Amino acid sequence: MTASFFEQPLNVPAGIAPRLRCPSCRGVLRTVSAADVHCVDCSAQYAVVNGTPILIDAERSIFTPKEIIATYEAERRRPPPSALGRLAWAVASRTPHVTSYRRQEIIAQRFADLLASRMKAPTILVVGSGTEGIGVSALQAIPDATLCEFDVYLTDSRMLVADLLDLPFESGTFDAVVAQGVLEHVIDPHRAVEEIRRVLKSDGLVFSTTPFVLGVHLPVADYTRFTRLALLRLFRRFKPIECDVVEGAAVSLAYALAYFWMALLSSFGWPAGAKIAKYSGNYLIFWLRWVDGLVRRSPVSIDAAASYYYVGQLSEATLSDREIVGMFKGLGLCPW
Ligand SMILES: [Zn+2]
Repeated sequence: MTASFFEQPLNVPAGIAPRLRCPSCRGVLRTVSAADVHCVDCSAQYAVVNGTPILIDAERSIFTPKEIIATYEAERRRPPPSALGRLAWAVASRTPHVTSYRRQEIIAQRFADLLASRMKAPTILVVGSGTEGIGVSALQAIPDATLCEFDVYLTDSRMLVADLLDLPFESGTFDAVVAQGVLEHVIDPHRAVEEIRRVLKSDGLVFSTTPFVLGVHLPVADYTRFTRLALLRLFRRFKPIECDVVEGAAVSLAYALAYFWMALLSSFGWPAGAKIAKYSGNYLIFWLRWVDGLVRRSPVSIDAAASYYYVGQLSEATLSDREIVGMFKGLGLCPW
């Protein structure tokens, strides 16, 4: 099988680079110069910025390489923050969280342990959260693991810029795909899961987390929420290993209170009130994440989870809708 070949080294791990493919036609890629690679089959040309290839099909994606590079360059040109800006950042970064990163790390560690127990030296695709995302250190700690990360934004540490809807890899490249807090931000999550499936090896594992009871949390790019059953159906061409609550009804309440407080303070024709509320309100409600350690064990938390996780193995069989409905675990009680 022909491998992609680059005369200039890319930021993509050496073992993965030959399996990079054109996001448009999945053809083999070759170097044009240090700043470009091109597709041998369809002649499409892709920019490379400081070793990071931008493998996005501008015709099909909602993200355009031109805008991605312009945003990156504008960010680099931005003057360092003033003393007041640094102080504001210091205060903001010390705001207590309403979400439990510890709980998210425990779930990610469990997945890393499962992966390490099943595969030696796994190649792992990390979607969207970069090299500093939650649980990534657990993946990096797997002996001889190769991590390849990408996002739709360019940064100095990014390996690759790509769109999850047209992954620029040869089919069957990865042992595992990790997509934490990503699928709600993709305009077509069903196509995204098909792409995840395509780039996995035949016994490959997927680990995904998605919010449920949470308001819109990224401007423009936040499209959908999944119930637990909807998540199982989204991954119906996988064999589910675990699908459960990351954070339960207490964190859902904290989210709702945080949005209420932001709405209240910005409802007097003063939008900046939302930002003040964002950094002040959490001091009142951060403790709810501790209560969640108890509350999330209730089946009601399955119905009103703040977020779910899914772990599955690629399967030849497709779960039927009847099988999926049979996997309901909540209570389904209405509060009215
Ligand atoms: Zn091509």
